[in-house]
Amino acid sequence: DSKDGISSDEDKSSVSGMIPGEIKRKRLRIVVTGGSGFVGSHLVDKLIGRSDEVIVIDNFFTGRKENVVHHFGDSRFEFIRHDVVEPILLEVDQIYHLACPASPVHYKYNPVKTIISFFVFDISTNVMGTLNMLGLAKRIGARFLITSTSEVYGDPLEHPQKETYWGNVNPIGERSCYDEGKRVSETLAMDYHRGAGVEVRIARIFNTYGPRMCLDDGRVVSNFVAQAIRKQPMTVYGDGKQTRSFQYVSDLVDGLVALMEGEHVGPFNLGNPGEFTMLELAEVVKEVIDPSSTIEFRPNTADDPHKRKPDITKAKELLNWEPKISLKEGLPRMVSDFRNRILNEDEGKGT
Ligand code: NAD
Ligand code: UDP
Ligand code: UDP
Repeated sequence: DSKDGISSDEDKSSVSGMIPGEIKRKRLRIVVTGGSGFVGSHLVDKLIGRSDEVIVIDNFFTGRKENVVHHFGDSRFEFIRHDVVEPILLEVDQIYHLACPASPVHYKYNPVKTIISFFVFDISTNVMGTLNMLGLAKRIGARFLITSTSEVYGDPLEHPQKETYWGNVNPIGERSCYDEGKRVSETLAMDYHRGAGVEVRIARIFNTYGPRMCLDDGRVVSNFVAQAIRKQPMTVYGDGKQTRSFQYVSDLVDGLVALMEGEHVGPFNLGNPGEFTMLELAEVVKEVIDPSSTIEFRPNTADDPHKRKPDITKAKELLNWEPKISLKEGLPRMVSDFRNRILNEDEGKGT
């Protein structure tokens, strides 16, 4: 990793201003694409909380107005309903590019049709959206952060995964649209960095959970928590022995900001190294939410990675970042949000 970029941009973004007693820093204007989604809305809370101006760009594909409604009326907050596949003109200091349609539940219904339409949409959003945001960053000299994913490692043959690992992705599989879309995004970011001097930052995010997660997007933590609250069996796919590492959303947001404000391009793994099988996760959910919860086995999806765990040595050393919240501490923090939303949903249905 090197310290790169446009010198005129340095004074804008190398100041952190986050330590009390430090010289007051310049207020930044920051774009968050996908800012009404799960991760994006928590990031917006943090940026507004430290007094920056935030412009959210979102088309509400999976995001919700409720996630950011508490900022409406704040003069430092602006919302633009816009699809990042279309170009846009703005003047900002930093761009956090999170917009991305990623929802495994699409695989469940009518596999052939949805996979094709999902594929087209996903690739066009990842490629065109990232290209437009990089074009914007280049024109205005803004710093650009892309939220890539641990999925770039595919079904990993190296464990835990370091950033130097190139991955094991099936290019023609059912989930390739997401993996390959993100791999292309990383490539584009590095091309704009090397070719046009854009200051880029690449985060490889591992499975993240917390309040405001989509209720029914099919991810394992949201599924198990919603199922336990609804008194339904938790659906374990396959034998449940596959592993994942689950990170609480506030840890991720701290990592994203540390990466943006730091001097290193990355990529950086941002994840919690605690590793759980899906059966172990079900046990923790049971312990935290409802000791009478049960599990039910279902067939697994194709090409499901057998194991995943980040090596976060690089982020610890260069960003001075590491997650603080364990799964047992984090899960209870999403329960009241999930309970309220499930209750509202039920009331809406008249049940
Ligand atoms: P999310 O679905 O809650 O948020 C994505 C947001 O992007 C939504 O608000 C959606 O409406 C918006 N969006 C989608 N397509 C758009 C378009 N064409 N134009 C404008 N807005 C658009 O998902 P999330 O979990 O918050 O993920 C945020 C980012 O982090 C994504 O890039 C995702 O790939 C990445 N990531 C998340 C995880 C995780 O575990 N949550 C893991 C790895 C990577
Ligand atoms: N772009 C944008 N906003 C800007 C500058 C560029 O949306 O302020 C888009 C632009 O429409 C193009 C993409 O970003 O589709 C890449 O722009 P770049 O200038 O790198 O490439 P070019 O337009 O020269 O192909
Ligand atoms: N999974 C599960 N039950 C569910 C949803 C998912 O057992 O209801 C499994 C899934 O097969 C995978 C793991 O949980 O092995 C994580 O899935 P998720 O979609 O949350 O994330 P990703 O596969 O992208 O890591």
